[in-house]
Amino acid sequence: MVNNGKRCENCEFYESNGADESIGKCHFNAPLPSPKHPMLNEKFYNEASLNWPLVQQTDWCGQYKDRQKDN
Ligand code: SF4
Repeated sequence: MVNNGKRCENCEFYESNGADESIGKCHFNAPLPSPKHPMLNEKFYNEASLNWPLVQQTDWCGQYKDRQKDN
């Protein structure tokens, strides 16, 4: 499947992780129970274990929304 240049790092719902720029959070859906990822810094990790889904910069999904466009 062709992604037509779509990447999570360019999506409106993506939040970069300061400790490892290749991994970030997807804010399209609500946080879910999840284990701590070893590459995440403490600021990025919620002790309640409710976290945003983790994605890589090069990932993408069908909900992609270009942050450079209005809609
Ligand atoms: S492309 Fe999909 S998975 Fe990636 S940040 Fe956007 S909504 Fe989330």
